[in-house]
Amino acid sequence: NESWLAKLDQTECPDSTYTKAKPPLVFSSAEGSQIWDVEGQAYIDLCAGFGVMALGHNSPEIQELFRAQLESPRAPMVHGMGDVYPSEAKIMFIQELLALMPVHLKRAALSLTGSQAVEIALKTCLLYKPQGDFICFQGSYHGLDLGVLPLTSRRDFKDPFGSWLPQGRVVELPYHCERHEIEKAIAGMPHGLAGIFVEPIQGRAGIRPSDPSWLPMLRDVCDQEDGLLVFDEVFTGMGRIGTLTSSFEVHADLICLGKALGGGFPLSACIGTEEAFQRWPQSSGEAIHTGTFFGHPLSCRMGVSVLRRMSEDRLWERSKSLGKEAVDYLSSQLANQEAVKAVRGTGLMLGIEFEKAGEGAALMNELRAKGVIALASGEHGESLSMTPALTIKKDLLWEAFDRIIAHIQDR
Ligand code: PMP
Repeated sequence: NESWLAKLDQTECPDSTYTKAKPPLVFSSAEGSQIWDVEGQAYIDLCAGFGVMALGHNSPEIQELFRAQLESPRAPMVHGMGDVYPSEAKIMFIQELLALMPVHLKRAALSLTGSQAVEIALKTCLLYKPQGDFICFQGSYHGLDLGVLPLTSRRDFKDPFGSWLPQGRVVELPYHCERHEIEKAIAGMPHGLAGIFVEPIQGRAGIRPSDPSWLPMLRDVCDQEDGLLVFDEVFTGMGRIGTLTSSFEVHADLICLGKALGGGFPLSACIGTEEAFQRWPQSSGEAIHTGTFFGHPLSCRMGVSVLRRMSEDRLWERSKSLGKEAVDYLSSQLANQEAVKAVRGTGLMLGIEFEKAGEGAALMNELRAKGVIALASGEHGESLSMTPALTIKKDLLWEAFDRIIAHIQDR
């Protein structure tokens, strides 16, 4: 691991997290919810590539995709002409995706990353109300591309690039703020509200769920102010928190999906109502928002397989019930640990918050030596996030939990 990383140290942009990782780790191969490093050491993967590998590593769906490439005389294409001449994979994917979504969501725009899906939502709001302003929330993470960076809360991500960011168009309020705080902020917007961006559960902030009555209140405010409600479900969507989208319960105008959507291939989508999308130019002439790799056929083909597997096995239900058992187990086992502030989780989006800043980050490092991959989260590294594959075997998950619990008890 050391010698591999030494090569990277000399050649990659210095802004890399791995330099802080002790002991160092370089991934080599993976199967299901296990990963091996370049030295052959095995790890239980509680991260699933930041929630991307919801079907597990090397799933039957991935194998089938590669087999089709190799065996078919005219294999599915790897790259097409996205928005100009769509591939059949892209068309199939959009049809099947929308068929699984709440009926009020009628249109989709595809892209490759979570940030790009949020970017499309942002542009859609700007077309809807060009002079309007935005609301986002403390702790939010909507990506780091320049367009969406103003919506992401953490100052350390924004300050180095601050001179470029739009001043005053985004108001940041506390997650779970009161209605009157939102109304006061909107009253100060010269051209009104264009959109509210919210994660139904904040991921990078340390798995922070929203209060059940809070999202409906945001819906109500958007109706009142004629602004668009945007759920950023890049992390929470596609079964992670026990549902494909939180918009089944509270109707968002736009939702952003990414991560798990492409089963490991880059694929994201902004999905929305007819009204939200109506200000985009109609299909004559050139598209005003496109990208060389948008609608990538291989990603879309994998996306179709993900959607089919998810709905055949109703993986979101497994996520919900296994997640509940997981929270109960971790809560009971860690109840007497003074270092632990809270155990949280909805579906298989799980977090342990520690009393001290930096403890989640410390544990992330220490657990690697115990053969467990989990991720630090929270603004001050105070939490440990676990977002395993929705297909993870219960025995393996509990084995990882027991290693974590034992380690916390021994510290
Ligand atoms: N939104 C949310 C809620 C996310 O969790 C993330 C990624 N962690 C993003 C947007 C950005 O996605 P990407 O890294 O694929 O650009």
